[in-house]
Amino acid sequence: SLISNFERYPLTFGVTPIEYLPRLSEALGGKVDIYAKREDCNSGLALGGNKLRKLEYIVPDALASGADTLVSIGGVQSNHTRMVAATAAKIGMKCVVVQEKWVPHYDAVYDRVGNIQLTRLMGADSRLVDDGFDIGIRDSWQKAIQSVEDAGGKPYAIPAGASVHKYGALGYIGFAEEVIAQEKELGFKFDYIVVCVVTGSTQGGMIVGFANHDRADTVIGIDASGTVEQTREQVTSIVNKTAELVGLGREVREDEIVINPDYAYPAYGVPSEETNEAIRLAAKTEAMITDPVYEGKSMQGLIDLTKKGFFPEGSKVLYAHLGGAPALNGYSYHYKDG
Ligand code: PLP
Repeated sequence: SLISNFERYPLTFGVTPIEYLPRLSEALGGKVDIYAKREDCNSGLALGGNKLRKLEYIVPDALASGADTLVSIGGVQSNHTRMVAATAAKIGMKCVVVQEKWVPHYDAVYDRVGNIQLTRLMGADSRLVDDGFDIGIRDSWQKAIQSVEDAGGKPYAIPAGASVHKYGALGYIGFAEEVIAQEKELGFKFDYIVVCVVTGSTQGGMIVGFANHDRADTVIGIDASGTVEQTREQVTSIVNKTAELVGLGREVREDEIVINPDYAYPAYGVPSEETNEAIRLAAKTEAMITDPVYEGKSMQGLIDLTKKGFFPEGSKVLYAHLGGAPALNGYSYHYKDG
């Protein structure tokens, strides 16, 4: 394993299940077999999701630093800030999260339900600010870190999506290694893996993990940021730094980093009609719940690419379900008629 020398603090149940999706496969023409790896069911902490797999490798560093407060940032309906709040509660730290107005919305209760409701319930100090969408390092976050110091606390800073952090991608190297072990039990290999990408360390980790087996280019990132240049740059930088950190022993080439920009429209956090149709189809065929910000867009990509024949007949495609369903509560307007 590339990550056996790194300390892991358990926040998840362990290996996540891989589930065959026969009714979705059939609905998309029956020529490709679709499976899902259920990262959305990975933990008992506040409904789980991909950030916990990342945070397992960040918590040991936070504990060693002697910090008493985790500080992070996201949108109002951020899954990431929910997961940081959950982690803080679980390890007995305080938590400050900055929540920016990344997304225009219709629902009157958008800033009171779903992720932000759970974040508040777990005792995090959730600070709403006015800034718009950006995956980079933000002023408001730096101010929040400073405010903890000014109050005599010791902050531990976790950037948006736990991505631009030295250990942010280790968890998803673990995912790649886990898939390879599960393939041995299943008796076949997946031809493609479809994964949503925004801040980059989920796909970035997978790329490094699969590059170790020369199959990184089978990981198809579906951009949900709507700022794909910035996301691609961030994934590339995470891949390069992480490959070096874990001693991959070679450079990862540009053509091994595959990101499809076609499904992020009209904007980050705003579902298109096709996104909503994808969410409905996964729900009606498999009772698999996806959200309008992230997994609905990667589901839309999976559906469209399958219908277009992008995956050759007989392919086995693994959809990485990264979580995110709590955000649906803030989008009830879109689904009042189903
Ligand atoms: N899916 C869900 C549910 C998320 O919360 C996130 C977080 O940003 C993503 C996908 C994208 O992952 P990443 O930010 O690591 O690219």
